[in-house]
Amino acid sequence: MNSSYRQATRVLHGTQSHRGKSEPVAMPIYQSSTYLFPDTDAMEDCIVRGIRNQHEYVRFGNPTQDRLNERLALLEGAEEALVFSSGMAAITTAILSAVSPGDEILAPHTLYGQTLNFLRKGLPEEYGIRPRFVSLEDLSDLERHVTPETKLVYLESPTNPNLMVVDLARVADQAKGLGIRTMIDNTFATPINQQPIDLGIDIVVHSATKYLGGHSDLLAGVVAGSEDFLKRCHERMHMYGPTLDPFAAFLLLRSLMTLEVRVMRQNANAMALAEFLKAHSGVSRVHYPGLADDPFHETAKKQMRGFGGMVTMVIDGDFEDAKRMVNHLDLCLNATSLGGVETLVSIPVISSHAWQTPEELALARVTPEMIRFSVGLEAVEDIIADADQALHEAMH
Ligand SMILES: *Cc1c(COP(=O)(O)O)cnc(C)c1O
Repeated sequence: MNSSYRQATRVLHGTQSHRGKSEPVAMPIYQSSTYLFPDTDAMEDCIVRGIRNQHEYVRFGNPTQDRLNERLALLEGAEEALVFSSGMAAITTAILSAVSPGDEILAPHTLYGQTLNFLRKGLPEEYGIRPRFVSLEDLSDLERHVTPETKLVYLESPTNPNLMVVDLARVADQAKGLGIRTMIDNTFATPINQQPIDLGIDIVVHSATKYLGGHSDLLAGVVAGSEDFLKRCHERMHMYGPTLDPFAAFLLLRSLMTLEVRVMRQNANAMALAEFLKAHSGVSRVHYPGLADDPFHETAKKQMRGFGGMVTMVIDGDFEDAKRMVNHLDLCLNATSLGGVETLVSIPVISSHAWQTPEELALARVTPEMIRFSVGLEAVEDIIADADQALHEAMH
């Protein structure tokens, strides 16, 4: 395959030439838990000597997953990638592969709920690994906040639900100078809008349940990074067993084929919705890094090719008004999760941030008047009209 083909082409076709081959165009589902060996020598080579030139057992991988891993690595510009049975399986495996008992992890307060839970409780109580939380601003001055035990900086950007943006090249550069690994959850941006490895970040994780899957019908996760690091993740996957099921692997691979076109449309729809909401008298603030006067616009412009499909508005009223607006939506669906083809709307304080204390909400800068949109692929005029009528109903 011509190596000068663009990323979008390589994600569809892989890196091997199709010329002269007779094979199915669509990757089949290998719905088999085990694989036949031609003879006992081959079995001995594979199982005893670890020369893995064929598949043996589904927990260690199968051809559908291999294809998926290859395409995900191409998307993220990583040496290797590995799929998992959920985003949390990928995140916990990646973190446990990056740190050891006694180590510290530096992270901002604005993380996905279960990731926060893992850092705050799971890691210290079960593994003797401590988190050190800082504000997003503190990340630009890493040296002042790390200790000799800090072995990992863990990030999300843009953040949920405020869509704050971290200067990734800056953090990566400082961490490298200090000999500290960096890991980012790239779920919100997608590799279409942001390629953290290109900016110097070491490891990328995803909840593929969101944009990568894109149709609100599967659960999966991804880790992407260096060959060495992925080897450590592989070992843990074999041991703990959070392997992706072959059917979900098939669905996810199919979804990746349309990732770029979906994300481009979601970027455009989100921008139009953000501009509409910003001009609306019933809205006191819109968080969207694509808006020219958003405080994170300049940083986002530097490191993102598109600004994403997530938009958060603050209603010019109280929590009851926010709930009224969501209850009057007709087209946009009131559901958690994000990244699907349909527009989903949720109020963070009763969904993604439901279990946080008032102090934690303040640190994460989340308020009850916030309404989060995961903008879908509908005609944007219809999304806007629905938001407009629901705002009108809420305010009268
Ligand atoms: C949903 C989500 C996760 C968790 O992923 P699952 O696939 O639900 O396990 C992690 N990070 C972010 C940013 C998410 O949105």
